[in-house]
Amino acid sequence: SRPTTASKVSDRIKVCVRKRPLNRKEKTRNDEDVVEIPAGNQCYVFESKTSVDLSKFVQKHCYMFDRAFSESADNELVYSNTAKPLVDWIFQGNKATCFAYGQTGSGKTYTMMGTKQCPGVVSLAARDIFSTIKSEKFGSDFKVYVSFYEIYCGQLFDLINKRKRLNALENAKKAICIVGLTERQVHSHTSVIELVNQGGNRRSSGSTSVNSESSRSHAVLQIELKSQSESTVGKFSFIDLAGSERAADVSDTNKQTRMEGAEINTSLLALKECIRALDQESKHTPFRQSKLTQVLRDSFVGNSKTCMIASISPAASSCEDTLNTLRYADRVK
Ligand code: ADP
Ligand code: MG
Repeated sequence: SRPTTASKVSDRIKVCVRKRPLNRKEKTRNDEDVVEIPAGNQCYVFESKTSVDLSKFVQKHCYMFDRAFSESADNELVYSNTAKPLVDWIFQGNKATCFAYGQTGSGKTYTMMGTKQCPGVVSLAARDIFSTIKSEKFGSDFKVYVSFYEIYCGQLFDLINKRKRLNALENAKKAICIVGLTERQVHSHTSVIELVNQGGNRRSSGSTSVNSESSRSHAVLQIELKSQSESTVGKFSFIDLAGSERAADVSDTNKQTRMEGAEINTSLLALKECIRALDQESKHTPFRQSKLTQVLRDSFVGNSKTCMIASISPAASSCEDTLNTLRYADRVK
């Protein structure tokens, strides 16, 4: 059942969609742009736009989100409307989480981690975190720590420390602790960008090609604010999720691929339930169903706010994955 108060929904969970431009490969093969984003919060997908008899085959799907970004939106605009409002929230002693969801090649890493030329949401948030500290808006006595790890087939790997395998343990207070995870103190947002770039290269393969293993792992980057006495004040988690198309790979004949698919499927389903539970105080939150939701437990309880950026390809050839992404994002709200 849906939560009753709209204000409550929009306050703790924001779901946005971002369409990337058609790439050169798609243009070369005359793949058509079937996604339309009029200014605002609507997203239209035209299924079979390329069919000869348009009147017979065109099916128009319409979705509404908190915000929809067209291919002309840059990372700064996406950031301003998603993660940026949550920066003050962590300075007030709370948790914030930002997810990028979507099929491989749809723009998750571009949005979250950015490229050398174009900083992503993580770098932009780091910039604002340091400028907030300098402005002394919340007092300037903060230390900033970064950790960066990936979850591949339910196992954790430290992306700051040589991809070292790590274990997650639950302490007496039911908090999850990743034993030995590197927490690197940083003093400027450029150090965060360096860690993002170095860690990104260490991800299962580092490449962004459709077949690379990086599409089969979730990458988690956390920026933690601590007081001078080292107690945690707030935490911002950024998650570049595994390619959602992998969830459909459970019938693959290759055992490893099938295992990856099953694991991704489980974690993305658990994630959806855990985010939804944020708006339903009494509801059971199924953290334990996947490693992803287990390690992100504090993103789903207490003073937490979440935003999800569902990234989609405009190409007709990706229509099915695009609709799956929009359906998933729609159900998270
Ligand atoms: P994913 O992480 O979802 O697999 P990527 O972020 O690696 O996808 O994006 C795939 C390719 O598309 C990359 O070369 C990336 O630079 C490019 N790209 C993605 N989104 C955009 C965008 N909004 N504008 C320009 N190029 C983009
Ligand atoms: Mg990626």
